[in-house]
Amino acid sequence: MNETLSLAHATALDAADPLRHLRGQYLIPQHNGADQTYFVGNSLGLQPKGAKAMVQEVMDLWASIAVEGHFTGPTHWMNYHRLVRDSLARVVGALPGEVVAMNTLSVNLHLMMVSFYRPSQQRPAILMEAGAFPTDRHAVEAQIRFHGFNPETDLIEVQPDEANGTISMAAIERAIAEHGARVALVLWPGVQYRTGQVFDLDAITRLARAQGANIGFDLAHSVGNVPLALHDIAPDFAVWCHYKYLNAGPGAVAGCFVHERHANDTSLPRFAGWWGHEQATRFQMAPQFVPELGAEGWQLSNPPVLGLAPLRASLALFDEAGMPALRDKSLQLTGYLETMVRARLAPVLDIITPAEPERRGCQLSLRVSGGRAQGRSLFEYLQAAGVLGDWREPDVIRISPTPMYNGYGDIHRFVEEVERWAAA
Ligand SMILES: *Cc1c(COP(=O)(O)O)cnc(C)c1O
Repeated sequence: MNETLSLAHATALDAADPLRHLRGQYLIPQHNGADQTYFVGNSLGLQPKGAKAMVQEVMDLWASIAVEGHFTGPTHWMNYHRLVRDSLARVVGALPGEVVAMNTLSVNLHLMMVSFYRPSQQRPAILMEAGAFPTDRHAVEAQIRFHGFNPETDLIEVQPDEANGTISMAAIERAIAEHGARVALVLWPGVQYRTGQVFDLDAITRLARAQGANIGFDLAHSVGNVPLALHDIAPDFAVWCHYKYLNAGPGAVAGCFVHERHANDTSLPRFAGWWGHEQATRFQMAPQFVPELGAEGWQLSNPPVLGLAPLRASLALFDEAGMPALRDKSLQLTGYLETMVRARLAPVLDIITPAEPERRGCQLSLRVSGGRAQGRSLFEYLQAAGVLGDWREPDVIRISPTPMYNGYGDIHRFVEEVERWAAA
């Protein structure tokens, strides 16, 4: 066998990996007494070892000083959301005032559409990808109906035009040019969850804004996966969750970006709550709503402290590694997976994620030859062997090696197990 495909080569790559120490900062699920081979960081990221102490700290303060915890010490709860703000801004390439951790993704998407989907008779439409993650489709349809418009005519979906179900930039350009004058909002994902395709958010933003449309991003599969430059790209808003590549735990508090140009715009409609009120005067408890500057002005409730605690531990590791170094490793790691699949698994697995490195992140979506029955058989075999990917109907296994805690040896192990299944 070609030397670059060998276990020795994978072991050498791991030994030379400058981020290899980070794996030791995570709790790896066990399978038959050994580490599970976990490729599902795109669904639920692993637990940082530091997360439990962050939660415990809150529990202990609650037990020992109760209400005083709101005001006591450097991690007092009143401003707990601010403890994650600067790190979060670094991960998404924003100014600190442009980001806030609050609610969950679907909630934030609705709150953002309240402010940035402002349909009129001339411009009633939302343009999005066909095959979007269901919550995005549901939220968009609900908003269109809420404003008295009709999703049949006012929800424009850009169809995949490439062989594997991905969408070319040309198709997006055509759709925005054709419908632009009717579009109030373009909603676009950073990474398509099914195919793993990464989109050129800068180009899409320029096209939307040139047509006079607002633009927002769903970055659920982008945050902590690919570098982002939200301030410079300058969409109106972005939303994301923190339990995928951001490793903040099941149902973790989500994230939201509002561009600086809207920081002080009190003319925007918003569903206000007391925590979005200007901080300096919030506790005067006056009836008049005066929003806090920036993204924090969209908060509704006081911060869900227990839900935010694990995010602090996770972001400390993102700060330590830095997104550029994580992206460098990710390109190598996913490139290695691609090389191995092409060289050793070509009869079994077909890669549907784009081949160009700039059009993908960690994840490769792999279509199993022979259809659903073969696919399920392979998926279940891998699961029983302690190699965990995830399944997308009807015949796709998604494998997402993350640069935080996956290594080349994990990928080698996956390849060997697929070969063993194919030989059986
Ligand atoms: C994971 C994901 C969601 C999840 O929404 P929640 O409100 O966190 O349940 C939404 N949209 C996309 C694109 C996702 O990938």
